[in-house]
Amino acid sequence: MQLKKADQLKTDFLNVTSHELRTPMSAIKGYVQIISKQALGQINDEQKKALEIILRNSNRLDTLIQDILDISRLESETMKFIPEKINIKSILEQTVETMQSFTDTKNIMITINLEENLPDLIIDQEQIKQVIINLLNNAIKFSYECSIVTISFRKTREHVLFETQDFGRGIPKNKQDKIFEIFYQVDARKDKKFGGVGLGLVISRGIILAHGGNIWVESEPGKGSTFRFTLPIKPVQNLEERFRDVDIFKLNLINMR
Ligand code: ADP
Repeated sequence: MQLKKADQLKTDFLNVTSHELRTPMSAIKGYVQIISKQALGQINDEQKKALEIILRNSNRLDTLIQDILDISRLESETMKFIPEKINIKSILEQTVETMQSFTDTKNIMITINLEENLPDLIIDQEQIKQVIINLLNNAIKFSYECSIVTISFRKTREHVLFETQDFGRGIPKNKQDKIFEIFYQVDARKDKKFGGVGLGLVISRGIILAHGGNIWVESEPGKGSTFRFTLPIKPVQNLEERFRDVDIFKLNLINMR
């Protein structure tokens, strides 16, 4: 009982603090961007460089805060899904815009391939946006400078298929399943320096499976990676229940022992 109470207290603490941390972070990032765009007066090149460093590190901090928030939400099983009719194109435009400052710092060009007449989907917009951001963020993170990342959405018979392709360092064959496990990173020491903790893909997998889709990777070390996910055109029900069944922390395994 005491352990359970202490665990709950820690989850609540993480939840409250990470929420509180996000608000000032948004203000910091917003103002840095305003100053960088010279909306408050002229700045010189050195000041611009300094602001870019502040922005890059604010983004890293923001990702970490988001990860803590996700962990506490997952733990307390309060992951909520609000499915609505959504236009894929608008989601994609919003996410690519969010990534702009990151692509600029590495000189990466994003090319988008959208099939005409994609059907609207009944999905949780914020969650699917988060999946696309995770995949794009990784694609940029693990790309070499001045390269290309391509994104596409197309219709198959019963699904819409999303794809991100990068030409970065790639993933060894024997690690391609493991990267969808919690806290797994191919090169933990190096990958932590990018600001991640090995949570993005496990959460993305949970979100996609909850929507009745699938997510997987094809990759060749040194040549690049292609991540794909599908979303059914015919929506599924009970997303929260499906998400719980994915059992991100493998708690069911522990209970069964
Ligand atoms: P994070 O990126 O925060 O470390 P993720 O769960 O998103 O966590 O990814 C887990 C690991 O999978 C990464 O640390 C990296 O080792 C590997 N990975 C993910 N995407 C790519 C990619 N596009 N190219 C190469 N490696 C990748």
